[in-house]
Amino acid sequence: MKRNLSTTAPLETVDVNWGNKRALAEVRRTERRVLRIEVRPSGNVIVFAPFGEGVGAIQDRVKERRSWIFRQIDRIVSWPSPTPDRHFVSGETHLLLGRPYRLLILQSDKPQVCIEGSRLKVSAPCVDDQVHCRHLVMTFYAVTARGVFTERLNEVARPFIRRGLQLPLLIVRKMSKRWGSFTSTGRIVLNVDLVRANPMLIDYVICHELAHAFHLDHGKEWRRLLKTVMPDWEDRKVRLEALLR
Ligand SMILES: [Zn+2]
Repeated sequence: MKRNLSTTAPLETVDVNWGNKRALAEVRRTERRVLRIEVRPSGNVIVFAPFGEGVGAIQDRVKERRSWIFRQIDRIVSWPSPTPDRHFVSGETHLLLGRPYRLLILQSDKPQVCIEGSRLKVSAPCVDDQVHCRHLVMTFYAVTARGVFTERLNEVARPFIRRGLQLPLLIVRKMSKRWGSFTSTGRIVLNVDLVRANPMLIDYVICHELAHAFHLDHGKEWRRLLKTVMPDWEDRKVRLEALLR
């Protein structure tokens, strides 16, 4: 069973079970003589095994270490995520572009995420593997964010371009304390979490940042420009803060 979307070579994997918890560990063969298990910040479990090590021996070693493996995974799952308090199990509500979707996780050997009606449908090899399900959803959000933000930036930038701005390069990434920023090198950075908000609120953040291309601080000039380009910006600001706490 493959778990990595971009891997072309077939993966060697072993199951890790502990109580009702399940995860798939990826086996990577190395020149090292000692087997080593790693739980990556992504939650992926990787077993570095010597070339000659048999599958049985690897499974035994993983079994010995399973309580440690799931402790690491639990720690990662409890990290703050873009959708706080979500556990990536069926039935949860997740926001996308301002609309609520019900998460539905189905077993499939082909990992995939799609929207179907009011459902956010996740196909995963292991429906109980919360870390992997979260990874799949986050990847889907990141891809959607890039598409939507690019489209909105092209639209919102028009009045600024008429004022002499060059369309800035867009960077989408996770930001812990901000929705966006405008860099001194003329790039606009948007927080990937904004993809949870209604597009009109995404437009506000873009507008806010583009106005910084002309005025660095939030002073009178900046407010005047923002008011001209987006008369209801203060309204949108309040709504954004209320929606995504
Ligand atoms: Zn600002």
